[in-house]
Amino acid sequence: MKSVWQEAVRATPACPQLQGSVKVDIAIVGGGITGLTTAWLLASQGRRVAVLEADRFGAGNTGRSTGNLYGTVGQGLHALREKWSAEIVGQVVALRLLGVDLIERIAAELSIECEFKRVPHFIGCEGEGAHVLSKLESEFDAASAAGLHPQWHERGNAPFGMARALRMDRQAQVNPYAYAAGLAARLQAQGARLFEDSRVFDVDASKGLVKTDAGELVADAIVLATHSPVGFNLVQAEMKASTEYGIAAPAPGGRAFEGIHWLRDTGLSLRATRVGGVLHAVAVGEKHTTGEPGEGNHLARLRSEAMRHFGVEEFTHAWSAEQFRSADGLPYIGRSAHDNVFIATGFGADGLTWGTVAAHALSRQIVEGDVADFALLRPARVTPVKSAKGWAEENATVVKHMVGDRLKHVDHTALADIAAGEGRIIEIDGHTLAVHRRDDGSVVALSPVCPHLKCRVAWNGDARTWDCPCHGSRFRADGRLLDGPAHKDLEVIEVRGGG
Ligand SMILES: Cc1cc2nc3c(=O)[nH]c(=O)nc-3n(C[C@H](O)[C@H](O)[C@H](O)COP(=O)(O)OP(=O)(O)OC[C@H]3O[C@@H](n4cnc5c(N)ncnc54)[C@H](O)[C@@H]3O)c2cc1C
Repeated sequence: MKSVWQEAVRATPACPQLQGSVKVDIAIVGGGITGLTTAWLLASQGRRVAVLEADRFGAGNTGRSTGNLYGTVGQGLHALREKWSAEIVGQVVALRLLGVDLIERIAAELSIECEFKRVPHFIGCEGEGAHVLSKLESEFDAASAAGLHPQWHERGNAPFGMARALRMDRQAQVNPYAYAAGLAARLQAQGARLFEDSRVFDVDASKGLVKTDAGELVADAIVLATHSPVGFNLVQAEMKASTEYGIAAPAPGGRAFEGIHWLRDTGLSLRATRVGGVLHAVAVGEKHTTGEPGEGNHLARLRSEAMRHFGVEEFTHAWSAEQFRSADGLPYIGRSAHDNVFIATGFGADGLTWGTVAAHALSRQIVEGDVADFALLRPARVTPVKSAKGWAEENATVVKHMVGDRLKHVDHTALADIAAGEGRIIEIDGHTLAVHRRDDGSVVALSPVCPHLKCRVAWNGDARTWDCPCHGSRFRADGRLLDGPAHKDLEVIEVRGGG
């Protein structure tokens, strides 16, 4: 499932796999916007950096995002203000606007062709329900106090037939994959060590070692820019993982519409983009807890919503992506349990900008030592009251799945009953297996046990992935790791007579 951005942009020249032992100043694990920007800022200050990417640069969540850059946050500044204070919200917005400016500056200085453009950001609703209108009013108030200068649009001049919308100017949009690919290309040209197809399976902080199957990096500092920190990390217990979907199609009549559009009543995010010279409409939404797709049909529902807004019949692109949101609404950026290991995670659906803020913060911390400006975001913060709801909720999910997994009866459907394209947990010869039938009729059988913390994965028919409800690891239908804190694939089990 490639996103509209990945389809249109020429990938960077393939980078080699890490082989043998390589010594650098800073080892960066993960080649999305966070890892690549951190690498760029450190390399520009003369540091020897290496970036290890398990797959291809930019192909993670960065290349599957919507490419919107804004000062507010997805959950709303009013929600953040309830957890923190107006003063903290002001700091958050200032940091995020600095992140947007930094992307603009880097794209311009490096001449990255990523269609960076300043646009307005509309947050509105179609219906006129009292609940959603009052949330918009609170958002207007919080955005005004934080210096985002919102203005109201009433029915008639608000876009997409919104009944009411607030508009914030000088926000931005970008092609996120083109930006990441451009950063990787400039890093390569500058002599940074870039490795693809190099999954890290262990980090030995005491020796400054980062290990892959074929090699290792030896470094003074290690940055885990892997979206969720690989392996076990306490912050995982504070984060909720959600999956969301995106679709795109050539826009009817090439009609351009400018800006970021969030519809609060349907949870849709709508934008346009020009890819391969053709104007495309993009719709993103249908969020659900990872590993809990409910009755599914998320893509079908997203399609019909998008058809209603754009009048498009056929969609040329469909994809899914994941987000990790912290219980207290702020990301975790800074030093982890070891002095020489840094993490950046918990961005929610706002991580192009947060990832860039993280790169700025981490590069300064590595070069200058701890910087007070970013104390608010440090991973070691303890906010039991603000996080209470999230803690209880998230730990309940984990307990529910771990206990439930032991007691749950397996779907006894015979292997032959699994339709092409479908996946199910079934029992064969006394073994519980996660089985997927490919479109060509062959089957792939896997252990359903997530290698991260041993929860059982669940099939997601929309994304065709096996997803872990406990900490958000996601695996392709053939068991290869796609996302999340696991660092191994699901184990493949040989099944005889699988037709
Ligand atoms: C549907 C959707 C739309 C979104 N739209 C927006 C948006 O418009 N604006 C916005 O600001 N944010 C958006 N986000 C959030 C945003 O996509 C992410 O927060 C952001 O891309 C995170 O960047 P990253 O570099 O930290 O992670 P990623 O881009 O996921 O990069 C992490 C990289 O680490 C690699 N990796 C993982 N484990 C290992 C390992 N063991 N060894 C080596 N490499 C490893 C992965 O392969 C991956 O390439 C959206 C999220 C979703 C779900």
